Amino acid sequence: MMELIPKNKFKCFCGKNIDYDPEETLSSHIETCPEYRRESPLGNVFYKINMKELEIGHLLALRSEHLKHALAIMEELKTSSFT
Ligand SMILES: [Zn+2]
Repeated sequence: MMELIPKNKFKCFCGKNIDYDPEETLSSHIETCPEYRRESPLGNVFYKINMKELEIGHLLALRSEHLKHALAIMEELKTSSFT
């Protein structure tokens, strides 16, 4: 049976239901939540990258890749009527 998640809430990996309206509430939670940082699929890759050791070309490629993914997420949010 699926667990019911209250409206406008994100169930974080830490078990808390976090408001995402306004979105800043969610943003500030995931920035400081150790469970989210540990479990986030993107974070699992991103936090292991030592950016100080990357050459400019790699940093630019990484930025380009992330911006492209961010735009794709924004498009998906538009279709789900949350902008
Ligand atoms: Zn959390």
